[in-house]
Amino acid sequence: MSTSWKTRTKLVHEGSRRSQYGEVSEAIFLTQGFVYDSAEAAEARFIEAGDDEFIYARYGNPTVAMFEDRMAAIEGTEDAFATASGMAAVSGALTSMLKAGDHVVSARALFGSCLYVLEEVLTRYGVEVTFVDGTDLDAWRAAVRDDTKVVFLETIANPTLEVIDLRAVSEIAHAKGAKVLVDNVFATPVFSNAVEQGADVVIYSATKHIDGQGRTLGGVILGSKDYIRKTVEPYMKHTGGSMSPFTAWVLLKGLETLDLRVRAQAATALALSQALAEHPKLLRAIYPGHPGHAQHALTMSEMGSGGTMIALDVAGGKEAAFRFLNALEIVKISNNLGDAKSIATHPATTTHQRLSDEQRTVLGITPGLIRLSVGIEDGDDLVADVLGALGHA
Ligand SMILES: *Cc1c(COP(=O)(O)O)cnc(C)c1O
Repeated sequence: MSTSWKTRTKLVHEGSRRSQYGEVSEAIFLTQGFVYDSAEAAEARFIEAGDDEFIYARYGNPTVAMFEDRMAAIEGTEDAFATASGMAAVSGALTSMLKAGDHVVSARALFGSCLYVLEEVLTRYGVEVTFVDGTDLDAWRAAVRDDTKVVFLETIANPTLEVIDLRAVSEIAHAKGAKVLVDNVFATPVFSNAVEQGADVVIYSATKHIDGQGRTLGGVILGSKDYIRKTVEPYMKHTGGSMSPFTAWVLLKGLETLDLRVRAQAATALALSQALAEHPKLLRAIYPGHPGHAQHALTMSEMGSGGTMIALDVAGGKEAAFRFLNALEIVKISNNLGDAKSIATHPATTTHQRLSDEQRTVLGITPGLIRLSVGIEDGDDLVADVLGALGHA
């Protein structure tokens, strides 16, 4: 494989391993184990497995290895470890490198399950976690200490779409010797420059844009060879969060069209944000790629695009938001994102229901807030669907 290839070429070809049959489409190796030619060969492989030698699917598998190699190539990291879900990736990346007494600083606006891992799980094992407003660089400066081991953030916060200055936070963290872990779902691998901007570890829920067709759960942890093979792999392979070969195959197929899908979704999201700006039924239309977004300049320098997600604050609170949701025809009410199908979510009553009213207020999750994941349908149809439904709000 060539390092000079651009992303779209890598998404189709990078990491392919062909069997003796020369298949065009990647093979699914639905096998949990591998046969050795001799007892000596088994012994040798357990001492050190070569790049194309496998032992047990929890440790690695040829189809999973193709997915890992392709992801590392497009993200620009030395290595990758594929996991059973995005949360297996987030919890594995953190737990594998932390121990009692360590200090973590995290942005407060997080995906609900990430918040659970940091707030409820890690602290139970004696890890100290400090939460900050991720957009406030002074808050990061005040919170990161000489003994801080990890800084954790989502580059674009779910669901309010605030953008964190990754380059600046990385400088603050690295000055104290802390590692920067980024949950990069909203940026997508297409628009991510996380490694260049200072991230040491990048995590994706592959359930989202990478599959992009709502079929499977999956995740991936990307980082240096040393971190992936010496820290993450031993932890994941012994605790059981590895990816299944069937999932890896679905995701390899997803990667082939990732760039085409995500760029089309982002183009429609921008058109939709323009159609919704100043709409009388909305208190706010939030899209980081719209010039009216408070962090538009930062977004464009960080990702060159506003991504595939929009947030709308419907005037009239929950009742108006529900009337809007129920009037949508193309856009489906669900809670995945990054899918080919456009999806609308009411965070206050679903994904962020567990939070107190006070926590929701701090995070900007108002009763009228709708999170819209823009799909690959015709852009004009989507604009008409959303504007039509707003008429009912
Ligand atoms: C969906 C999501 C996850 C969890 O991924 P799963 O594949 O559902 O386990 C983690 N972080 C972010 C930002 C997400 O959007």
